[in-house]
Amino acid sequence: MGLVMEGKPAAAAMRARLTEKALKLREQKIACGLAVLLVGDDHASIIYAEWLGKLCSTLGISYHLAALSGETTEAEVLELIGQLNQNPDVSGILPMMPMPHQINPDTVARSINPDKDVDSMHPLNVGLVAAGKSPWAPCTPRAVMTVLDYYKIPLAGKHAVIVGRSNVVGKPLAQLLLARDATVTICHSKTPDLGFFLRQADLVVAAIGRPRMIVAGMIKPGAVVVDVGINNLEGRIVGDVDYEGVSTVASAITPVPGGIGTVSTVMVLEAVLRKWQE
Ligand code: NAP
Repeated sequence: MGLVMEGKPAAAAMRARLTEKALKLREQKIACGLAVLLVGDDHASIIYAEWLGKLCSTLGISYHLAALSGETTEAEVLELIGQLNQNPDVSGILPMMPMPHQINPDTVARSINPDKDVDSMHPLNVGLVAAGKSPWAPCTPRAVMTVLDYYKIPLAGKHAVIVGRSNVVGKPLAQLLLARDATVTICHSKTPDLGFFLRQADLVVAAIGRPRMIVAGMIKPGAVVVDVGINNLEGRIVGDVDYEGVSTVASAITPVPGGIGTVSTVMVLEAVLRKWQE
């Protein structure tokens, strides 16, 4: 059994940094706050919004929750975002995804002031991250980097294989790893023989959404394994990695729950405070 990369201590270290930063802003009477836009009743989004509210109150950051009915129109959402863009008390805006079908997520992303776009949805921020000009990728890839750095995992010259090419996890994570001089391969559902690629990896990141899909035989002994997946399997939360098997061959592994997800929430708050340098 290798190192278990728990998210909790990495999150606590980041929370302590942010608490200090928020305190300094309060002393200087600088307003900062997070606005969360929740449309409909997606269960995971409701729970996530509750966590964010608690975290804001722990840090002493104002929290504005707009919980709207599932029938809300796109025009109403855009109008609200317009108001939040203008509100000086709001420094970060997070529309919870997925939104109901009548609302186009791309239109929502384009309507956010790029400076307040905490999950890097606006095309300007997407482009800056893709060009390697901004470290402000979406919260989950930044959580992966925070955990890897907390546990001092070397990245330069290593071969990282990411499974998953979504715009919120796989693709921006590839940019962050490239910026740290890793060699990056991205696999997806059309990749034939996933094990062939994974067995070459020094670092495996699973962001798939398929319970326990990655098994020990796919992992090079001594590799580092990061499991981003959150899946409900018969009432239990499990990752994309078969933890029991893989932890016997990996040199380090993140658990699920208690791994990356624990850190992602804090990353939202890091982005809310990003315009004020420490
Ligand atoms: P997503 O948008 O559904 O993307 C999943 C990716 O996995 C896609 O690129 C897909 O390939 C690929 N994939 C699906 N089946 C595959 C297979 N059999 N073999 C290889 N690749 C396969 O999901 P996401 O939003 O990136 O999220 C991924 C997972 O992370 C989910 O479990 C989600 O709940 C979790 N998550 C966790 C956090 C956190 O804070 N820990 C945050 C966000 C998401 P194609 O592109 O070819 O379809």
